[in-house]
Amino acid sequence: MTDGKIVLPVTKTDALSAPSPMIDPFGRAVSYLRVSVTDRCDFRCVYCMAEDMTFLPKREVLSLEELDRLCTAFIEKGVRKLRLTGGEPLVRKNIMSLIRSLGRHLESGLLDELTVTTNGSQLQRFAGELHDCGVRRINVSLDTLDPQKFKAVTRWGDLGKVMDGLRAAREAGLQIKINMVALKDVNEDEIVPMLKWCHDEGYDLTLIETMPLGEIDGDRTDQYLPLSTVRARLAERFTLTDIPYKTGGPARYVTVEETGGRLGLITPMTHNFCESCNRVRVTCTGQLYMCLGQDDMADLRAPLRASEGNDLLNKAIDEAIGRKPKGHDFVIDRTTNQPAVSRHMSVTGG
Ligand code: SAM
Ligand code: SF4
Repeated sequence: MTDGKIVLPVTKTDALSAPSPMIDPFGRAVSYLRVSVTDRCDFRCVYCMAEDMTFLPKREVLSLEELDRLCTAFIEKGVRKLRLTGGEPLVRKNIMSLIRSLGRHLESGLLDELTVTTNGSQLQRFAGELHDCGVRRINVSLDTLDPQKFKAVTRWGDLGKVMDGLRAAREAGLQIKINMVALKDVNEDEIVPMLKWCHDEGYDLTLIETMPLGEIDGDRTDQYLPLSTVRARLAERFTLTDIPYKTGGPARYVTVEETGGRLGLITPMTHNFCESCNRVRVTCTGQLYMCLGQDDMADLRAPLRASEGNDLLNKAIDEAIGRKPKGHDFVIDRTTNQPAVSRHMSVTGG
């Protein structure tokens, strides 16, 4: 990298080893890649991280050039949608140079969508540039509209900054989806106000069940709120109609007649969504996880660093896709007090 700009390496792929599309053993085509560009974050959300986190040494993390090369290899193998996440993607130094560079795949038509999942803390600074790079939709995580509660849930966050960021994003022309993790006794009383607020502001809302990923300071059983319960409660006050709307992710959508908006439900615990899974995830160290809820992974950093060409990398990707599992086995109850997988969501990327 030179002065924060990405200098693209020349990759060599000859006709004999042209990248093959990614089809898993269950016939599912992999067309959606989520990349965690950093494990670091400026928040410490209670369900996501312990307060005292140990982050990876910088040398283990892929450079922006390596991330670009890795994403490009996946795009050449059929990925049409790319989401950058983390940790907090917008706190990674010079992240906009990566986003700008990846925007070339939107222009070429190889990629349909480039998106970001963010906590919103840096949006005021970056919203305009994101739009300029071709990003059209972003997911912003926001679990409460109450400043004190926001501080309690995120530990280090400032709701005012996120609100300023959301305004900046809307003014920049970005379509916004709010992601709210439903937490028992913490924000369950705020689901209705949040729904009304989001739809008034023109944002979609997606509710997410907590997933047992990584050790945290508290007990997840205390936080877990099944969305089947939430939906039943909402249905007493609102007319919810299932719709086939899809964004490429795992959410199922309903329209809310009274607000005129859309509500998504991500229910890994109460309704397993694995059968239509089209996704894989790469960590900031280049580990490819074929399933968010399983430990099996493939190291892509070694083949990436081993040569300038992509043959070794493509081979490693093919082998990994060839063992993408059917699904996850998440359980949250009092008898299962170990997380399903030991890594945090901030490692694999939400
Ligand atoms: N920092 C960014 C953010 O918060 O949007 C991106 C990374 S964050 C890990 C992505 C999403 O995962 C967020 O919406 C967050 O609420 C969600 N998340 C984190 N840990 C989770 C868990 N254990 N269960 C369910 N969702 C979780
Ligand atoms: Fe950071 Fe996002 Fe995890 Fe919160 S959910 S600690 S903002 S990575």
